[in-house]
Amino acid sequence: MGLAPIWRLKQKSGPAQGWIALKAAVSGCTKCALHTTRTQTVFGVGDENADWMLIGEAPGAEEDRLGDPFVGQAGKLLDNMLAAIGLSRGQNVYIANVLKCRPPGNRNPTPEEVEQCSPHLLQQIGLVKPKLIVAMGRFAAQTLLKSDASIASLRGKVHTYAGVPLIVTYHPAYLLRTLEDKAKAWEDLVFARKVMREAAPTP
Ligand code: URA
Repeated sequence: MGLAPIWRLKQKSGPAQGWIALKAAVSGCTKCALHTTRTQTVFGVGDENADWMLIGEAPGAEEDRLGDPFVGQAGKLLDNMLAAIGLSRGQNVYIANVLKCRPPGNRNPTPEEVEQCSPHLLQQIGLVKPKLIVAMGRFAAQTLLKSDASIASLRGKVHTYAGVPLIVTYHPAYLLRTLEDKAKAWEDLVFARKVMREAAPTP
């Protein structure tokens, strides 16, 4: 018999000690060279008991400066997209990145950086115990799913990460550059809402 998926074990009381220890581990992390160039770590933001967990790639310049994920233009679009399905960061939504430190010049994270940082994300998922993960963008999707498939082929399906249902959509920064794909991102959010309703039916 396999392990129970994280969402089945969900308890709404937050394991405060776990959060304190994880936040300290992340802010003091020196496991990869990114600690030498970061201004600060970017841990995650939102409702620590959220049903929805959105995962992006890595902090950019603004996030590195301010310490929260998705605070730039892409973050504004993300907030608008969440609002369109009745969600907001902080209310049943938790937002994090695969990497907690900014890769200089916004280069792609290296496989070594992902390997060193992944335990932090896994612990974060274990503490939030989301009912659904939304992987935003090619990098997050391919990393979490250990796949080199395109976003186009990963969208519209329910995958699993760490025992939690996961769906894939476009990264908000990509949507800022590629307006014609915004309708597809909207389809993904509607699909996510349907998956969530099936995972957590309201009485
Ligand atoms: N892009 C990301 O993937 N994450 C952020 O926090 C900001 C931009």
